[in-house]
Amino acid sequence: MQTIQHWINGTATEGDAGRFGDVTNPATGKVTSRVALASAATTQEAIAAAAAAFPAWRDTSLARRVQVLFSFRELLNARKGELAAIITAEHGKVLEDAFGEIARGQEVVEFACGIPHLIKGGYTENASTKVDVHSIRQPLGVSAIISPFNFPAMVPMWFFPVAIAAGNTIVLKPSEKDPTAANWLAALWKEAGLPDGVFNVVHGDKESVDALLDSPDVASVSFVGSTPIAKYVYERGTATGKRVQALGGAKNHMLVLPDADLDLAADAAVNAGFGAAGERCMAISAVVAVEAIADELVAKIAERTRTLRIGDGTRGCDMGPLVTAAHRDKVAGYIDAGEDAGATLVLDGRNPSPDAEGDGFFLNPTLFDHVTPDMTIYQDEIFGPVLSVVRVDGFDEGIELVNANPYGNGTAIFTNDGGAARRFENEVTVGMIGINVPIPVPMAYYSFGGWKNSLFGDTHAYGTEGVHFFTRGKVVTTRWQDPSHGGLNLGFPTNA
Ligand code: NAD
Repeated sequence: MQTIQHWINGTATEGDAGRFGDVTNPATGKVTSRVALASAATTQEAIAAAAAAFPAWRDTSLARRVQVLFSFRELLNARKGELAAIITAEHGKVLEDAFGEIARGQEVVEFACGIPHLIKGGYTENASTKVDVHSIRQPLGVSAIISPFNFPAMVPMWFFPVAIAAGNTIVLKPSEKDPTAANWLAALWKEAGLPDGVFNVVHGDKESVDALLDSPDVASVSFVGSTPIAKYVYERGTATGKRVQALGGAKNHMLVLPDADLDLAADAAVNAGFGAAGERCMAISAVVAVEAIADELVAKIAERTRTLRIGDGTRGCDMGPLVTAAHRDKVAGYIDAGEDAGATLVLDGRNPSPDAEGDGFFLNPTLFDHVTPDMTIYQDEIFGPVLSVVRVDGFDEGIELVNANPYGNGTAIFTNDGGAARRFENEVTVGMIGINVPIPVPMAYYSFGGWKNSLFGDTHAYGTEGVHFFTRGKVVTTRWQDPSHGGLNLGFPTNA
């Protein structure tokens, strides 16, 4: 069986771990390869390679760095079909969706191609008499990226294009569930002309994550995953003085007001609830329906959901499997719990008949109505194809529900009332908001990030916040003496 190796200093290597994890095709249930799980020592090797590559990469001209980025972009765009196939084979999402995640990652590569403009500082002539001031931004050093299973290409690409363009070097620790995409990206960087050691990949679990968090040679950590691990990474990483952005889980609400276009809202709920089998941090998991239109909306959502084709992501289906058997069972357990708690089970996904060979990890889309905030199906991030409808009396109760939730990643409102939408935008305690848009993932030139338990640290991913995260500012005050200079003055410098 093939072993997926680490990528250190431009070369594939198994390291010294002796520990391996199974990688499965979720559509067939078959183990397709095994992945080496890095020891602390192997992780340290990757950190050392990145640290050694840093001085030269930091001093490489912006013009040259940008050329490498453009080459990477061209190669990625030309060969994205290979990457999409890898994603579908290890994650399970349908091919079209795999292409979608690559497109959103590529957007960040394209944004990072503009780094000369993004990184340039300011200059003030004569800030004080014959004194000039300018600012510069410099890279941090070794940047660790720790990513989740649900976007094996896009989430790493939220960070590394900007980090590399700014002059940092990388150790990426992707999810051990779908590790191959990271190696494919590493090989692509080499082909694009990136010097060895600038982009390294270690595969692994807690052992390698802890080695990254504790290493004094790692300057920053960009983490994306579940909330408990995000909090842990933030606390342990900042304890050793690192800059940390740790993006966590979500429970995204979609508020539907009585004046909304209910067909549009029903389409959106189905797309955002069941796309990628609900394994998206921006998935809608709670539809908050104002009572007056709730029956009609639930009927429209159910009618559309019944038409979805479930199966192997290579077969043109709408929705693929869950990532592992354990995760499928956990999600099925939530359906049991919702039923036991008294929610109305409109569509039960527990007996799927997917279009697939073998024994894949499938569930059909599940729809609950009359869900209340005390139920675990409402409180927990299920991360599966389970959509809950919570009924409210009106707009104010809807906003209160969204704001009472401990997560604050994304939310959406469906309405044709501009005033209501404006109030929603102004009052919700959530980082990313859609108005008649169900999955409001910001474009690469804005920044991605939630509030509350969806983000630890205060810097969002990519966009100008990403550029700031991966650089440190300096301000330089300069005086070149001219013949008028001279004299002692022990007072504090002022702007005379
Ligand atoms: P996860 O937290 O289990 O794993 C994320 C990463 O942390 C992986 O690389 C994993 O190997 C590592 N890890 C796991 N357990 C660890 C431990 N005990 N100590 C140290 N490291 C550990 O998350 P997942 O299941 O891979 O991904 C799904 C989660 O990610 C969901 O909660 C989802 O909402 C979240 N997510 C959030 C965003 C966002 O932008 N906020 C985006 C994508 C996914």
